[in-house]
Amino acid sequence: MEKLLSNSKVIVKDSKKPGPVVLIIAGVHGNEIGGVKALNELVPKIVPLKGKVTFIYANLEAIKQNKRFVEKNLNRCFFDKQPKELANSLEGKTARELLPYLEEADVLLDLHSSKSSNSKKYVLCEKDCFKFVDALPVAIVLIGTDKFLPGGSDGYMFNHKKPGMCIECGLHESEDSKATAKEAVTNLLKKLEMIPGVKSKYSQGDFYKAKYIYKNRFAEFKLARKFVDFEPLKSKELIGLEGEKKIFAKKGEFILFPDDQTELNKECFVIIKKVPKIK
Ligand SMILES: [Zn+2]
Repeated sequence: MEKLLSNSKVIVKDSKKPGPVVLIIAGVHGNEIGGVKALNELVPKIVPLKGKVTFIYANLEAIKQNKRFVEKNLNRCFFDKQPKELANSLEGKTARELLPYLEEADVLLDLHSSKSSNSKKYVLCEKDCFKFVDALPVAIVLIGTDKFLPGGSDGYMFNHKKPGMCIECGLHESEDSKATAKEAVTNLLKKLEMIPGVKSKYSQGDFYKAKYIYKNRFAEFKLARKFVDFEPLKSKELIGLEGEKKIFAKKGEFILFPDDQTELNKECFVIIKKVPKIK
């Protein structure tokens, strides 16, 4: 069954047999086409043996324009009660239309990719997902982001006491990010015994937890140099400047999502720390 919402396309594959409801989303960020291409190839082929798989192309307008988003970051719009500044935006409305699918789902896998060619592959989730992450072809698990980056699809699931995972599959346009997204979807469905085939088991060696987010409240923010995601910072290393104010790293910190910002109150970077491997 296929259904067109005002800015999303939903395809439901229902086995009509009891089993989990799995939600697979791509194109929350419209330029992250690895996941979109993966769905294009997978959707016609997936026939669940039990339960139901719902595939969603989330932000059709942003996908068409090959942009991260049109008005607002859709992955900051998934709230039961949206902040006012989101409610009237295209993505605010899009998220509201998608909430019933999140509410119905037992497990969420949201496919993302990165603009950086040396980006790492990882999954953003919370501890309730650890029984699923070995199905995903990534080496890194990052927890604790919902507190600092609220409104994500995975955070929405977590706040409703259900497992939600956002997977970062690598560089947007690469064949590799498409292949990673495809493997993540099919292997998760194999693990849940919803499609036939021998599942692969991946082991994650690095676990990180988000510690804080830096937003520029008074002035423009400029990074001191180019950083890459998960880069370890030296103690007292200069991260960037908010106006004249210097922002330094502390011991044991790693950086994520570093970005220059001209507008106020934007996400400049997130600080994460390594945590012991959690089984
Ligand atoms: Zn994304």
